[in-house]
Amino acid sequence: KESKAAKSKAGASYDIALLNTDNGVVTRFPPEPSGYLHIGHAKAAMLNDYFAHEKYNGTLLLRFDDTNPSNEKQEFQDAIVEDLALMGIKPNKVSYTSDYFDELYAYCIEMIKTGHAYADDTDKETMAAQRMDGIPSARRELSPEESLARLEEMKSSTPEGLRWCIRAKISPDDKNKALRDPVIYRCNPHPHHRTGTKWKIYPTYDFACPVVDSMEGVTHALRTIEYRDRNPQYQWMLDALKLRHVQVWDFARMNFIRTLLSKRKLTKLVESGVVWGWDDPRFPTIRGIRRRGMTIPALREFILKQGPSRTITLFDWALIWATNKKYIDPVAPRHTAIVTQDVVKVIITNAPATFTEEKPRHAKNAAVGMKTVTFASNVLMEQVDAKSYKQDEEITLMNWGNAFVRKITADANGTITHLELELNPQGDVKKTEKKVTWLAETPDMVPVELVDFDYLLKKDSLSEDDVLEDVLNYDTEHRESALADSNVAQFKEGDIMQFDRKGFYRCDRAATPGSPAVFFNIPTGKAK
Ligand code: ATP
Ligand code: MG
Ligand code: MG
Repeated sequence: KESKAAKSKAGASYDIALLNTDNGVVTRFPPEPSGYLHIGHAKAAMLNDYFAHEKYNGTLLLRFDDTNPSNEKQEFQDAIVEDLALMGIKPNKVSYTSDYFDELYAYCIEMIKTGHAYADDTDKETMAAQRMDGIPSARRELSPEESLARLEEMKSSTPEGLRWCIRAKISPDDKNKALRDPVIYRCNPHPHHRTGTKWKIYPTYDFACPVVDSMEGVTHALRTIEYRDRNPQYQWMLDALKLRHVQVWDFARMNFIRTLLSKRKLTKLVESGVVWGWDDPRFPTIRGIRRRGMTIPALREFILKQGPSRTITLFDWALIWATNKKYIDPVAPRHTAIVTQDVVKVIITNAPATFTEEKPRHAKNAAVGMKTVTFASNVLMEQVDAKSYKQDEEITLMNWGNAFVRKITADANGTITHLELELNPQGDVKKTEKKVTWLAETPDMVPVELVDFDYLLKKDSLSEDDVLEDVLNYDTEHRESALADSNVAQFKEGDIMQFDRKGFYRCDRAATPGSPAVFFNIPTGKAK
């Protein structure tokens, strides 16, 4: 109940306009297990989940579209299941197109017998050219008997069989090119991750999708808009086989600037070592954006706000990160880190003996708890701050109070090497211009590494003729070493927090003896 209310807070309310929902709603998310889910897939998955589970009391199917064994792997399949769970999406049933290979094969035979399909051995280039020009294949009038004989050869993967495919006999020259006799079955000798070597022929998506949608009782098939030309073909298959019709709804693909959203291209970057793996924080995968600090409620709000609209969008990442900030800002504990390069050692001449105090980890949210702050005469400051001070200037030490800058020592390059401050407990923190970060120099300071990332692409959007290698940004990872307050030792992988005046971070690796904790900067949608 509660999670439903929380979900609806995303503000989404729309309908599958004009579609008939009288007989219940069954939607499906049909990923091909050929890569990890990315943010575009999240849109498809969340929309299907929204209609099945939030808008209607319906059913959500997860169906692996595993019809091309060359691309598909168990690893990807498992990752998809995990990532859906991570997104809080619970399919009512999990199935595989490969569960239906026997039925699909039988339907293919039926198509041939009823004159709705034929075997063809036209080579790829010729077939494409004929399709373009509306020329019928030389095999178009092959008899059902001959076509069936070819299908048998394809099935046993004989050298002759490997040359053939099966095409739906729709039209050689319809003005919708998707209707120009699409291929419905083709050979692939590659072993399948589920069915092994049982099959050497596989149905195409164009054939399997409508048939299995219909067989599984799908009422509403949501598809991205680039399939729109194929909608008549989808319905034609069902007519040819006298199967129950399915209502199709097209929605817009979601794209982001400087971002690849194609499993094929993402695979290339993984395999060539441009990124660390599928969960690289620069990747638009669910794992990648999560590792960068995206939260699932923010992702869901962002996606459901767009809804199933058909307007093609190219988003700036700033928008979704700004949504994410709304979720993390109220709960992220605040801590302190000082960059160690050119760190400035500071003496506070009139500081009391070292003492500690319990302070809230979040000024506006007591539920975030307390942290221990150490106050001492030896503190560290950052070079950028130190460089800005003028002799005798009054500054504010954050969460401590005001102090006068009494002595500034610099080397020949102007790098500040030493500072002396004098606390001014009577000083008014509202009157100073600079609120600066400081950290008591104690043995329990925690070494941390602060990592910031940039886009993997140098261009906002790619055109057909862009070569991937030419548009890749090879300078996307910036690391700084820092020292953080002792409380930071408690952070575990996945924790989200803020370093004062630096930004939000997600702990990617906890500190261990001898190696620093690693924190990834979380974008907030603001330009730096
Ligand atoms: P990719 O090109 O990344 O491989 P795909 O469409 O081939 O994408 P599938 O696994 O077949 O990948 O897709 C599963 C579902 O996700 C489909 O319904 C597909 O339309 C949808 N989808 C894929 N990319 C996007 C996107 N960028 N925006 C919205 N939906 C998407
Ligand atoms: Mg696909
Ligand atoms: Mg694709």
